[in-house]
Amino acid sequence: MSKEDLVLVAGAGGFIGGHLVSALRTEGFKNIRAVDQKPLAEWCRTFADVENHTLDLKERDACRAAVKGAAIVYNLAADMGGMGFIELNKAACMLSVLINTHLLLAAEEAESERFFFASSACVYNADKQKDPNVTALREEDAYPALPEDGYGWEKLFSERMCRHFREDFGLETRMARYHNVYGPYGTYDGGREKAPAAICRKVVAAKLSGRHEIEIWGDGNQKRSFMYIDDCIKGTQMILHSEFADPVNLGSSELVSINQLVDIVEQIAGIKLKRTYNLSAPRGVNGRNSDNSLVQRLFQWEPSTRLRDGMEKTYSWIYDQISAKRTIPTAV
Ligand code: NAD
Repeated sequence: MSKEDLVLVAGAGGFIGGHLVSALRTEGFKNIRAVDQKPLAEWCRTFADVENHTLDLKERDACRAAVKGAAIVYNLAADMGGMGFIELNKAACMLSVLINTHLLLAAEEAESERFFFASSACVYNADKQKDPNVTALREEDAYPALPEDGYGWEKLFSERMCRHFREDFGLETRMARYHNVYGPYGTYDGGREKAPAAICRKVVAAKLSGRHEIEIWGDGNQKRSFMYIDDCIKGTQMILHSEFADPVNLGSSELVSINQLVDIVEQIAGIKLKRTYNLSAPRGVNGRNSDNSLVQRLFQWEPSTRLRDGMEKTYSWIYDQISAKRTIPTAV
């Protein structure tokens, strides 16, 4: 692979895709094709010196056009969001199978050298995530299969499809199971946002409005780990360029409860809020953490940005975005 090779980023208008395009430019890649379904004006980030296209990658012909001539294909395109979105849009989440399937077919036809699929911690067996005294999930814990309904099933199926395209057709596929990625330029309102961005938005709203209260989804005791975007991009590149072809966990192992995440954002904002708990809101599994033994063994590295440091940058970006709009969002 050379820096002159054409690189396709599918889902480039999204949060991780936008950061990946930025990183590829910094790494010196000269020919980047960025594709997303959204109109360009709605992309999280755009760069004038890359090829930008609006295409619906559920369509096979769109995938052919997107992949044409590409040596490397990153599939970061999916219809997805936080728990509020994936629990209520299971069919839409599963339809992302069309994106990965058509991209794989197009990459095989175009004889692309590498294909990256962004999988998720939602592939893990739900029975292994009931205990709030969390045992970190190892790659083999995805089987026997009992993933998150809808979104997780699509990710697990698409992982298998990547594996079999490699085994049967020789397409070099690589996969990362991302665990809750956060950072600047991520969605923070509209219903698709995830916990870190949603909590930042609610705290900013409380600060700007003077109404010092916050609604938390669930009882706040559900535990998660959150990976800062820079670690996600670094790990993605390591996995893509490695010779290891099975799925690899890419997540932080710094476990926190949602209540502790709110504590962190309150400290950053210098505010203390009255908490109410919405027990009927989507809350996901009780506890989930990333076992990083494999990623450490492969690369002598694991995502290590401290949650407090990453959240400071994220809060500050969301604060600036909301302040610039001059309309204060709701704290629920
Ligand atoms: P995102 O929603 O910000 O980006 C996904 C992009 O895909 C969006 O811009 C969307 O418009 C685009 N897209 C959707 N359908 C499309 C279509 N038919 N054709 C073309 N583009 C289409 O999400 P993200 O956080 O950047 O996630 C990127 C990838 O990583 C996704 O596959 C997601 O499932 C996976 N992932 C993300 C996280 C996370 O915490 N952010 C965790 C696990 C897995």
